[in-house]
Amino acid sequence: MRTLAEFRQFRPLTVGRIEAALDADSSSYLLKGPRGCGADELLGAIAQALLGGCGGCGHCWACREVADGEHPDVLWAQGERGKAVAVEELRRVVRFASLAPVQARYRVVIIPDIDTLRLTFPVILKALEEPPTATKWLLSAALIGAELSPVASRCFTVELEAPSDDEIEERFREANVHATAALVRWTRRRLDRVSLFARLTDAERYLSTFQDLPELVRDDARWCMELVHRLTPEDLGNTGDAEEVIQCGLEILIAAHPENADWLRRATRASLSLSRHLPVQLVLAELILRAG
Ligand SMILES: [Zn+2]
Repeated sequence: MRTLAEFRQFRPLTVGRIEAALDADSSSYLLKGPRGCGADELLGAIAQALLGGCGGCGHCWACREVADGEHPDVLWAQGERGKAVAVEELRRVVRFASLAPVQARYRVVIIPDIDTLRLTFPVILKALEEPPTATKWLLSAALIGAELSPVASRCFTVELEAPSDDEIEERFREANVHATAALVRWTRRRLDRVSLFARLTDAERYLSTFQDLPELVRDDARWCMELVHRLTPEDLGNTGDAEEVIQCGLEILIAAHPENADWLRRATRASLSLSRHLPVQLVLAELILRAG
């Protein structure tokens, strides 16, 4: 996890906005920014800044406890893999928020991706409206629909920027991945993609398969069908990763062949939840038909 000071190197504007927001001393903050912009990390960095008494140095006991998810005055409520936080967990959040801090000046409740709470947000609304003075709510969202405006209107909103290419390169370096121009471009400025690509063996070679699919189909359609079975790499243990890689691969294919963007998009709209191979199979089938 990075501290606010570390974030400042690449995103001074974002950190400046966060500091101004903290000066305003609101009881609840909402970080709003594009997917993969590092909102989760920033929520943690803000919790450090609020609790440490050090301004969020990243090294003291309190900062380390926050980073490790062990601080007794911090509750992270997070759904699994983009899913909404369960209602039972939200009730626990409300109880936690009503109590006095144990060690620090504040109790901090962190809920990332509140866009997933479209149906359940009323559970926390009252607590958010009338928090005890020593409770801070830190929320984040990529998109705030009209349904969630009751939550957003009770928060001090901070707009986040997406990471720059420089920041993406830096993250690749940290993950010991050689940041080629193609890899940087394919992240679409999403930090979660940096970690995803770092988990792939030879990410660039693997992902460039998608870019070259039409040529591969023209050269040898049968081999290409074989390829379908290789498109989910064995080293990707979890389904979420595989889905995200295929999604990303199809974006790469579309970007490399904009003349086919319309039908590619139609073909890829097939739900990934049905089968993680299905969109790729549909795209390949269509490519084979077109290659005639
Ligand atoms: Zn500290």
